[in-house]
Amino acid sequence: MTAEAAPTMIHTRAPGKINVFLQVGALEDDGYHDVAIAYQAVSLYEDVRAYPADDFSVSVTGTVELSRVPTDGSNIAIRAARLLAARTGYRGGVRLEIDKHVPVTGGMGGGSADAAATLLACDALWGTAFPREDMLDLAAELGADVPFAFTGGTAIGTGRGDQLSPALAKGQFHWVLALADFGLSTPAVYRELDEHRARHIQDISPAPVAPSVDANVLQALRAGDPHMLAECLYNDLQAPAIHLEPSLADVLELGERNGALAGIVSGSGPTVAFLAADIDSALELQIALSAAQLTVVRATGPVHGARIVTD
Ligand code: ATP
Repeated sequence: MTAEAAPTMIHTRAPGKINVFLQVGALEDDGYHDVAIAYQAVSLYEDVRAYPADDFSVSVTGTVELSRVPTDGSNIAIRAARLLAARTGYRGGVRLEIDKHVPVTGGMGGGSADAAATLLACDALWGTAFPREDMLDLAAELGADVPFAFTGGTAIGTGRGDQLSPALAKGQFHWVLALADFGLSTPAVYRELDEHRARHIQDISPAPVAPSVDANVLQALRAGDPHMLAECLYNDLQAPAIHLEPSLADVLELGERNGALAGIVSGSGPTVAFLAADIDSALELQIALSAAQLTVVRATGPVHGARIVTD
């Protein structure tokens, strides 16, 4: 009997996401907030290639601005690999190559996708066969959005956003994403929300007692109806993100004037996601926003979560 040869490289891919609904609860004593999120995974992917190595290293290429991505041990992909090694008792390391297509600090969970793709890649490379149900708990230790990058599709996230339940979704939604040339820090946007809530600033909604996803959102996703979904896109972080970066309001207005059914700041921003009625309107909107000198990409959702790619 011959032992199976250890793989020389594992290639995985995980998607970025749009929060089509995000409600934020009150600031808790531990500094966190409960949230209710409707996640949709979209067709902007992070590719991770994992090679055998004695220690841990990462290099990053991609089609998005990369200057804010660390390549030391603070990169979430390295943290993911080290965590899996520690939990499984694996003694070696890994050399990771990330090919990024999700905007960095864009509110679309690019780092989370890297973490999910890395967990999957290292588990296959090292042959550690970590149970899938435990993998989601491990993912949650790395960040609230990491479990969703693992599962993909459409899901409701509660707690910190990491308690997932799948949601039914039909068809394909067409998105046009306006990328900013600056980042917005997620903690800074939450801080802005808390401060404004404390001062009862008018355009900021008060904290709900128990955040929950609007039933209309679930119905629109189930029906696969972009017009219905456009009516109920919602993000509690949008107003604070606009307070920090007022130019986002102009971007939202520009998209809505050029045929978008609706626009929403994605997560903590600054990416603005526009929902289009169909592929033709998405193309027209992409042309109009590009003509206004915005950096624009199109994406569709929902798409699958982290998976191994056979090249
Ligand atoms: P989210 O929507 O989950 O809040 P985001 O999409 O806004 O996240 P990311 O691009 O995931 O933001 O990264 C946020 C921060 O994490 C950046 O400041 C960056 O320096 C750091 N970081 C660490 N590892 C990575 C990585 N692999 N890719 C991108 N950023 C990373």
